[in-house]
Amino acid sequence: MDPAEILQDIAAQVSVCEKCQLHFSRKNAVPGEGRSNSEIMFIGEGPGFHENELGRPFVGQAGKFLDELLEVAGYKREEVFITNVVKCRPPGNRDPLPEELLACATYLDPQIEVLNPCVIVTLGRISMGKFLPNARISEIHGRATWVKERLIVPMYHPAAALHQPSLKPVVIDDFKRLPQAIQQARAAGRTMEVIEAQPSAAHVHGVHEEPPEQLTLF
Ligand code: URA
Ligand code: SF4
Repeated sequence: MDPAEILQDIAAQVSVCEKCQLHFSRKNAVPGEGRSNSEIMFIGEGPGFHENELGRPFVGQAGKFLDELLEVAGYKREEVFITNVVKCRPPGNRDPLPEELLACATYLDPQIEVLNPCVIVTLGRISMGKFLPNARISEIHGRATWVKERLIVPMYHPAAALHQPSLKPVVIDDFKRLPQAIQQARAAGRTMEVIEAQPSAAHVHGVHEEPPEQLTLF
């Protein structure tokens, strides 16, 4: 199966999932959507009212603002992949519970693995907590941080910026700097390729040195 097919397969599993109690409050599961080969992935919190109605991520007010933010960073929505830490709507839009996050990681983790993005943008505190459990969003928002082989960029949630107007310019500014994080991740990727190329060069060298050893074996 190619990445697009695997993502579709995950979405199909999500649509009938009963691994946590959030399946009781879902009308439509929201597995996430976008390009299966996107180098950047956006992870929000969970479906709200409109997302639950349509089965698509970020389609309400926060979604409109996210579209604006993506534009600021030079992206169109269809060029990236957008999902959430939980795929079913928490009742009354409450925060997802730890056991719900754990259950739904069954789907998020393979989505990350298949997509293999070099940059993950977390939208809001809960999503940030998956990668940077001890961080404070007020201290590290917009700052790219390596977590294993990926750059994690924690952003304020677009809905938080809509509720708290003073955050709006801050979030816009953070998104303006997103292309720099992507450049940084790409540059690191190239470095890794160069490092990978070295052992094979050494191997060629080794082959040249092998004949005398082989002779001693005879
Ligand atoms: N808020 C989120 O965190 N995710 C959505 O999909 C919509 C609103
Ligand atoms: Fe399953 Fe995730 Fe929905 Fe819970 S939130 S029922 S784990 S898909």
